[in-house]
Amino acid sequence: MRRVSVFGATGSVGESTLDLIARRDDCRVVALTGGRNVARLADLARAHRAELAVTAHDDCLDDLRAALAGSGIQAAAGAQALVEAAARPADWVMSAIVGAAGLAPGFAALAQGGVLALANKESLVCAGPLLRAQAARHGATILPVDSEHSAVFQALVGEDIAAVEKVTLTASGGGLRDWPLDRLAQATPADAGQHPNWAMGQRITIDSASMFNKAMEVIEAHEFFGIAPEQVDVLIHPQSLVHALVSFSDGAVMAHLGAPDMRHAIGYALNWPTRAPLPVARLDLAQAGRLDFRLPDPARYPALGLAWDVMRTGGRAGAVFNAAKEAALDAFIARRIGFLDMARLVAETLETLARETDMTREPASLAEVLETDLEARRRAAALAGRLPRNGAA
Ligand code: NDP
Repeated sequence: MRRVSVFGATGSVGESTLDLIARRDDCRVVALTGGRNVARLADLARAHRAELAVTAHDDCLDDLRAALAGSGIQAAAGAQALVEAAARPADWVMSAIVGAAGLAPGFAALAQGGVLALANKESLVCAGPLLRAQAARHGATILPVDSEHSAVFQALVGEDIAAVEKVTLTASGGGLRDWPLDRLAQATPADAGQHPNWAMGQRITIDSASMFNKAMEVIEAHEFFGIAPEQVDVLIHPQSLVHALVSFSDGAVMAHLGAPDMRHAIGYALNWPTRAPLPVARLDLAQAGRLDFRLPDPARYPALGLAWDVMRTGGRAGAVFNAAKEAALDAFIARRIGFLDMARLVAETLETLARETDMTREPASLAEVLETDLEARRRAAALAGRLPRNGAA
């Protein structure tokens, strides 16, 4: 029996992961974790006969205990309990907590030397070198779960990374891709929270409309595959059927195609290093008819270009970028700033901290990454209050 744990079990990726696990008979569920959705966490823990359920919030523990009463499933709460859950022996761990909160549990899981299926892109953006060093130290394997990175990973099987000229990530362009440019500043969270192709959580859907999500993925690709900033680029592909392309030095291009369903990338990580049938829609190219590609317009997606600034700066820039992005998204969702202000706010936070600190210095520990995260959030929140409004709706 494979022992598996799912961090962020109540989220979009977590639920899809458990859907696949439920279809197998070779998995024993160890730990499931969630945030405030305690009722769902308890339901999942019961359905999958988990050993342990953990909520991130201390004040949710009583509710979780009550919901699990009589089940024999242990309950725990808090950030330390998440780390302890990650230290429970498991062969395969899904890291699908949203945000920097996923960092410490993922780090702890790697110490077991098994497989960490990484959906939490924030981990690589904030602490890529630390995470890779932790995996190497313990002989653990990190597998990408972001669909684009899984696509690149699959296109690279049997290839030499030295022969790669370029990695192209595709982007749907998000829910506002066809809006007139002069209306973008007025977009509301509800407008930006609609995705044309993928069903995902609210935050990542808005990040998709602003392309902050793609900026994170560009940095993630740089960190995961160890390629230079100039070797990553992005194409808008409205159909979301080609997930990524890898261009080699002999002119060959390997593309990965599939229906937009996260269960493909999750299932690949679950079945790796082999392939097994998955319950995902099959691609019908005759029905799709056409595949379109275009370059992203920097005026429409000002957040995207920041990724290359972050990669070239290195050091703590990734942690600052992610935290400022989170703070900007909070301010946008609370309607304190407009849609286009999010990129301005993140750029200003990066500039301010680069002036005042040595951003290029690599964090020496996870604690330092989390300190940087807190500082950047604080700065971004303060700057958000002073930002001249650019048409917040
Ligand atoms: P969701 O918002 O749907 O789920 C997030 C999960 O994290 C939930 O289980 C949530 O619990 C939990 N959570 C929230 N806050 C905390 C916290 N402070 N501490 C611990 N746990 C917390 O997110 P997604 O599933 O969409 O995304 C998860 C990760 O995967 C993100 O990093 C995202 O970028 C990445 N990803 C997502 C994709 C997708 O298709 N959705 C695609 C590729 C990557 P609760 O529900 O109880 O609040």
